Amino acid sequence: MRCDHCAQDSPDGVFCTRCGAHQGTTLESGSAKTREHRYAAHPAEHVAQPSVFTTLFPHLGHNKIHEFRWAFIAGLAGVLLLYVAGLITAAILVSALLVPVLYLIYLYEAQVYRDEPAIVLGFTIGGGVVVGIVVTLFERVIYNPFQYFPSPFGGAGISVGGVLILGLLIPVIQEALKPIPAFFLPNRADFPETVDGLVFGVAAGLGFSVAETLIGFSNTLANLPPHVAPGNWIYDLATLAIFQPLLQGSATGMIVATIWRFRRGRLGGREIGGIAMAVIAHVAFSTGTVLMKDAGINPLFILVWQAVVVGALLIYIRYLLHFSLLEEAAHMGFAETICPNCHMHIVASGFCPNCGMALSAAPTSVRRGRRPHTEPAAKAPAKPVAKKA
Ligand SMILES: [Zn+2]
Ligand SMILES: [Zn+2]
Repeated sequence: MRCDHCAQDSPDGVFCTRCGAHQGTTLESGSAKTREHRYAAHPAEHVAQPSVFTTLFPHLGHNKIHEFRWAFIAGLAGVLLLYVAGLITAAILVSALLVPVLYLIYLYEAQVYRDEPAIVLGFTIGGGVVVGIVVTLFERVIYNPFQYFPSPFGGAGISVGGVLILGLLIPVIQEALKPIPAFFLPNRADFPETVDGLVFGVAAGLGFSVAETLIGFSNTLANLPPHVAPGNWIYDLATLAIFQPLLQGSATGMIVATIWRFRRGRLGGREIGGIAMAVIAHVAFSTGTVLMKDAGINPLFILVWQAVVVGALLIYIRYLLHFSLLEEAAHMGFAETICPNCHMHIVASGFCPNCGMALSAAPTSVRRGRRPHTEPAAKAPAKPVAKKA
C-alpha cells in the first residue's frame, strides 16, 4: 500500500505506519494527515480532551491508565477521610505526596528511564525537590505572607505589591528555574524524543511541588495540633492534592518538552507558544487565586478557576506532543510487535497501522520486544491476540 500523504510504502492498515496519517475513506471528522480526532499517544481520544492521565502519563496503555485513575481516586478519598476525621496535618502530607508518588510509580512502570533509573530520577524528581527547597526559602525572604497591610475593603487586605510578587514575580521565577535539573540531565542524548522531555519535565515539576508544599505549610504542620475541627480546610486540600501539583508538573513538562524540541532543531510558533502558555497559565493560576481569596469569594469558584487553567494547559500540551509525535516519526524499521494500545499483533514502523498510536510513546518493555521483520512489509495482516483481562 502506498500512503496518500507521505507517498511511502507501508503495510495495509487504517493508519500509515510511517507518517501516522489516517488512510481510510470513512467519514471521520478532521484532516486525515493531522488526525486531531486521534491523539497520537492515545488514539481513542481527541487531542483537545483535557484528560489528566493520558496527557501527563503518555506511556500507559488503557488498562494501566484505569489502575492509575483508581489509585488517584482512592488517594483523594483517603484525604477526604482524614479531613472528616479532623486529621488535617496528615491530610496535608497525603495531599502533597499523592500525585508525585503516582508519578514515581509510573516512571517505574513504563521504565521511561530505561537503564539509568538513578541518574534520571535524581536529575528530574530529585533536582525538582532541590530547586523547590531553594526557591521556596528564597520566596520567604522576599515576601512574608503574614505581614499584611491593613485594607479598607476588609478581607485579608493584601497589598498591590503583594499581588505582584505572589501572582506574577514568583510564578515567572519558578517557571524559569524548575526546568534546570532536567536541562542538565547528563545522559539526555539517550532520550531524544519530545515525549521523554515532557515526562522528565513533569517529574521535575512534581518534585518542586512537594518541596514547595511541605516548606510552605511547615508552620502549619509544626503548629497545628494533630486533631482539629475540619473547618474550611477541604478547599485548600483540593488545591494541594490536585491542582497545585498538576499545574507545577504540566507547566514544567511543557517547557522541558520545548527544550527537547529545540535540541532537535525545531522551535516554531507552537513551541514558543508552549513556553508562553506555561508562564501565562501559572501567572493566571496564582494571581486569580490570590485575588479571589483576598476578595472573600466562595472558595468553590477558586477551585473552578484552577481547574480551568490546568485544563487549558493540558490541552496545549496534547497539541504540542501530538504534532511532535507525528513529526518525529523516524523510520524505526519494520518490526513485529504488539501494540500497547489496541493489543494487536502488528508489523509496524513508527505508528500502529491499526489504531494509529505513535510507538515512540510505547513503554520501554514494548520497544525492547520489537523483532526486526525481514519479509516485505506489504503483507502485514493485523491479527487480534488474546487481550489481557
Ligand atoms: Zn504516510
Ligand atoms: Zn494499535
